[in-house]
Amino acid sequence: MTARPLIIGVTGGIASGKSTVAHAFARLGIPWVDADDIAREVVAPGEPALAEIRQRHGPRVLLEDGCLDRRALRDIVFADDAERRWLESVTHPRIRERLGERLENFRQRDIPYALLVSPLLLESGQRELVDRCLVIDVPEPLQIERTARRDGVDETQARAIVAAQMPRDERLARADDILANDGDERHLADRVAELDRQYRALAGLPPTP
Ligand code: ADP
Repeated sequence: MTARPLIIGVTGGIASGKSTVAHAFARLGIPWVDADDIAREVVAPGEPALAEIRQRHGPRVLLEDGCLDRRALRDIVFADDAERRWLESVTHPRIRERLGERLENFRQRDIPYALLVSPLLLESGQRELVDRCLVIDVPEPLQIERTARRDGVDETQARAIVAAQMPRDERLARADDILANDGDERHLADRVAELDRQYRALAGLPPTP
């Protein structure tokens, strides 16, 4: 059986540049799995996690079409730590399991390595699914500016979101590789090309011409 390819976990705080980095790797032919997509899949209608959530919180967390009202649920768990932990106990193991299945699919494909892009790589037990951890890092003022601009929130709201996430130092301490995303997109692409060379070498492949 073909061995599973090298898997690089890509993480970072809000608006650090995870998606932008994933797209830059994709331009070099590197595929990725997005943990946010899987997180949405496990609470889709018909999924056991959604049934458990409905049982606990009732119809107030459902939209008319039967889909999860993500905003209503977010308001509940933002205000109540015990509810947040309960929700995580229902969703995180299922997300992890499904991510593992998606990564297994890469066995069948002829690729040098692959990425798992996840905002919660280090917080939700997903670290064990990957071989290395790449942290996308931005200084906080720039992170707040990019969050506010992209998501249309004000500076105070952006600051609150950043404050609720894993502290920057803690994330950096757990990185194998760091991409400092405080330059322009050209700088980012150059750094991605450098990491690509490093990962191809780690995967035992010759460098791209
Ligand atoms: P994440 O996926 O980590 O939330 P994104 O990749 O969506 O972050 O990036 C957040 C915002 O910052 C986006 O609007 C993106 O276009 C912008 N951005 C990311 N990297 C850079 C960069 N190097 N230069 C300028 N803007 C950037």
